[in-house]
Amino acid sequence: MKVLVINAGSSSLKYQLYDMTNESVLAKGLVERIGMDSSILTHKPTGKEEVTEVSEILEHTTAIRKVLEKLTDKEHGVLSSVDEIQAVGHRVVHGGEAFKGSALVTPEVKAEIRRLFDLAPLHNPPAIMGINASEANMPGVPNVVAFDTAFHQTMEEKVYLYPIPKVLYKKHRIRRYGAHGTSHQYVSRVAAEFLNRPIEELKIITCHIGNGASLTAVKGGVSVDTSMGLTPLEGLMMGTRSGDLDPTVVTFVMNKEELSISEVNSMLNKHSGLLAISGSSSDMRDITDGWEAGKPNETLAFEMYEYRLRKYIGAYAAAMNGVDVIVFTAGVGENSAIVREKTCENLSYLGVELDKELNKVRSGEPRRISTPNSKVEVLVIPTNEELMIARDTLRIVQESK
Ligand code: ADP
Repeated sequence: MKVLVINAGSSSLKYQLYDMTNESVLAKGLVERIGMDSSILTHKPTGKEEVTEVSEILEHTTAIRKVLEKLTDKEHGVLSSVDEIQAVGHRVVHGGEAFKGSALVTPEVKAEIRRLFDLAPLHNPPAIMGINASEANMPGVPNVVAFDTAFHQTMEEKVYLYPIPKVLYKKHRIRRYGAHGTSHQYVSRVAAEFLNRPIEELKIITCHIGNGASLTAVKGGVSVDTSMGLTPLEGLMMGTRSGDLDPTVVTFVMNKEELSISEVNSMLNKHSGLLAISGSSSDMRDITDGWEAGKPNETLAFEMYEYRLRKYIGAYAAAMNGVDVIVFTAGVGENSAIVREKTCENLSYLGVELDKELNKVRSGEPRRISTPNSKVEVLVIPTNEELMIARDTLRIVQESK
């Protein structure tokens, strides 16, 4: 069975085509600048040259049509006909409380995703555009949606509620939802497989640290707490997001600086985090380069980042009354040996012992970076949200037959 996985943003669309007989990627690519003057389609068929095409792509339906043309192209294609695609999986950011797992797309499911536009105004509308575009281009082919929030729906009320007037939850569903759920679920499963232990008996802390960053406490295979909240702003210090702060900062700054809601939102989401403290970059590579060169602002940014990360690991060890496995994943987690080293250095009270040499090795495979004596297994596991979505899509389509 061939499954196409789509991740639609407001002006972009990423895709990966899987052959699910062996879970291999046949092709992947990206359409950027949808709706702008010159859109760019980058298509990479496995084992062949990457191709780039600039054209005018005004909306998502045309974007998917162009992708399908590339997938079936004589020279750059990997399919003889579009009919070979038997299902399409879509990444959707917010599933609210309605979706506790991935779901087959029906008119009701689409209506529910639309009802959640309020909670994810930037992310859920493009997902609907992606689904509509896929239905228009591939009539009769089933679509499945996978939600970033779904894995965290197992959190208990005492964890997901904020201690504010309860009427706000009743009226507006204000609560912790979390994000990166597909990634946290995927890496926690791979960790259990790698260690050859049943996930039901493991306490795992998964650190998904990329541009956006979140931690999840996974106990017995389910999410019991996660650092992102109503939106992805809560929790860790990130590339451009502040993470946790006293909510009064928001009202105080709005008052003193005469900022509007959208301006303060933009400040906290786009102009904070590593970028704000370093004054130079939101990219961890630049921050660690600056830290190594002894630059004071980058050093402070690095130290704040690591300190906040470590505090959350401690909090989740407390939440689960222990931790067996710590997993690092995503851009920073998979690539930054120094972030892993400095974080683990201060986790010795948990019995964490890092093997500094193993930590420096680079590979695209799951691997252990703790010593045999370490009481906690520390692993680096490359995340693969697309594969997780493709697996869910295959399972749900097969179950629906
Ligand atoms: P996103 O949250 O956008 O999906 P990624 O998970 O791809 O982000 O992470 C991107 C980030 O990973 C970059 O901004 C950069 O900070 C970090 N990163 C990538 N490679 C390295 C590296 N070799 N060393 C340190 N950080 C890295």
